[in-house]
Amino acid sequence: MKPLTEQEIRTAFVNCTKGEAKRLAVPRDLAEQPWDDLDFLGWRDPQAPGRAYLATESDGRTVALALRLPGTASWQLRRSMCSICMTTHTGGVSLMVAAKAGRAGQQGNSVGAYMCSDLACPLYVRGKGVEGVGARLPESLTVEEKIRRAVANLAAFIAKVTA
Ligand SMILES: [Zn+2]
Repeated sequence: MKPLTEQEIRTAFVNCTKGEAKRLAVPRDLAEQPWDDLDFLGWRDPQAPGRAYLATESDGRTVALALRLPGTASWQLRRSMCSICMTTHTGGVSLMVAAKAGRAGQQGNSVGAYMCSDLACPLYVRGKGVEGVGARLPESLTVEEKIRRAVANLAAFIAKVTA
């Protein structure tokens, strides 16, 4: 994806208030992100373990989501699969909950998905940065097909948030 600036990211949030989008933690090392290998940029707030964010391109525009991690539970220690990139981790997949955009979100509606806790799905799909962390079930898909599938899975999640 094309590199994003802090300003582009902050103005792209669809499911939090403008004030929250202005204050939330955006990575300081945006210039060093491996943009060529990213379908989305995902990050955790280092100051707030229960918060995660992601930014991507959807229909030609930048869309960013604010996510909550409801907390540690025993299932996090089990082996589970990311619903975006389909990587299986032991203890590395978390339930991420996004408030729905607009009125539905203000009324408390949300959408959840199990995702890689470090939100590094694009790198897992490409077989990068996975040493000792993830494991994949044997699959016959090519990297291109896996990328397309992960992009489609993320698009479906974003569609649920913005529906
Ligand atoms: Zn993943």
